[in-house]
Amino acid sequence: MPNVKAYSAASATSPLASATIERREPTDNDVAIDIDFCGICHSDLHYARNEWADVMETVYPCVPGHEIIGRVTAVGSSVSKFKEGDLVGVGCLVDSDRTCPNCQEGLENYCPNFTLTYGSPDPHLGGVTLGGYSEGIVVDQDFVLSIPENLDPAGTAPLLCAGITTYSPLRHWNVGEGMKVGVVGLGGLGHMGVKFAHAFGAHVVVFTTSPGKKDDAMRLGADEVIVSTDPDDMGKHIGTFDFILDCVSADHDINAYVMQLKRDGNLTLVGAPEKPMGVAAFPLIFGRRSLSGSAIGGIAETQEMLDFCGKHNITSDVEVIPIDKINEAYERMLRSDVKYRFSIDMGSLKS
Ligand code: NAP
Ligand code: ZN
Repeated sequence: MPNVKAYSAASATSPLASATIERREPTDNDVAIDIDFCGICHSDLHYARNEWADVMETVYPCVPGHEIIGRVTAVGSSVSKFKEGDLVGVGCLVDSDRTCPNCQEGLENYCPNFTLTYGSPDPHLGGVTLGGYSEGIVVDQDFVLSIPENLDPAGTAPLLCAGITTYSPLRHWNVGEGMKVGVVGLGGLGHMGVKFAHAFGAHVVVFTTSPGKKDDAMRLGADEVIVSTDPDDMGKHIGTFDFILDCVSADHDINAYVMQLKRDGNLTLVGAPEKPMGVAAFPLIFGRRSLSGSAIGGIAETQEMLDFCGKHNITSDVEVIPIDKINEAYERMLRSDVKYRFSIDMGSLKS
């Protein structure tokens, strides 16, 4: 599939617009995929607008998109894991060095030489990798996931990033029955965090700046909802949480959430705001609380998460949009007006 239609941004300030991009001919180990749906992650917006320039300067023109679901159209001669017609997924990773200690442990997400689905140097075509806002993609079979056929594909696409990014830290910190768990920010990641923490048996409390999301939070699996802009509400739970997952995309007071933890409780950041946050020492010191981070998940754990979702019938709550609504979707995401993930119907790009 040499040339495919896509949506790309030409600069940090230009809207996404229709473009044609090149894909490589599948090598022996490659799988060619016709994309059906691609979720819109807030990371796509951070990247398209070069908000992470300090860590990862955006190379333009850029094509975001790393929540990809589609059908296999061709496989290379050495591909054993997939065949034409299979329903497959691709997340944030398309390769890694496979030799470092992290890769050896199945943690390709912490490989210092990983290749991201977009924005990494492309060893095949030069330039940088281009993501899933496109008709098709070619990916090494070891970075392609099997999708349970019982799940709705539009709602399954976001599992490839929002799903694994919340599943992985909840598993790492052994979230389960008898634990009180907070999820901060009810967006794409946050609503998946609520679904998983609930499925793992925890008592789930949502912290939201949007009072209008209260009923949805309860429907998604929360046991309680705290409106974080209300100081009385925030005061009631101080010192009571075993674990908090912070899924917020913008600047906010992290210390207010560290205070909510019990002794030895942990707050894990998955949200990646543009600017550094001020962390106060005392809320951490008093109570031996800890603050950590987590990045997506490895390939094996992503497959485990997808199989778990297939078994428990878990998908993302999505608003399906045609690709020409993407710039509007970005603006709505910035206003926290997403219920709770946009999923692009790629048929709209083909027609
Ligand atoms: P999203 O759908 O836009 O959700 C973010 C939520 O944060 C909003 O819905 C809102 O929830 C809350 N929020 C927004 N602005 C806020 C503010 N100023 N103060 C307090 N709360 C605010 O974004 P997403 O796709 O879930 O992504 C969230 C973050 O995770 C992004 O920074 C993204 O880049 C990052 N991310 C990280 C990884 C990783 O591997 N670590 C992977 C994917 C994404 P309420 O309305 O409920 O307050
Ligand atoms: Zn993402």
